[in-house]
Amino acid sequence: MICYKVHCIFCKKIFEVVEGTRKYKLYKENMDGKFSCEDCDRKIELEARKGLLGKLN
Ligand SMILES: [Zn+2]
Repeated sequence: MICYKVHCIFCKKIFEVVEGTRKYKLYKENMDGKFSCEDCDRKIELEARKGLLGKLN
């Protein structure tokens, strides 16, 4: 199994991108791109959802 060590742009931690995942594909397409770890992904998603709920109410 191939995996790459990538720097998260938000928390600056190093996380692994594992072969076969969506992020791995993105990484292979653009290795100079900016990537975020799963923790930050989750936070962003939560914030986005909150923002969306705020707009709906
Ligand atoms: Zn992060």
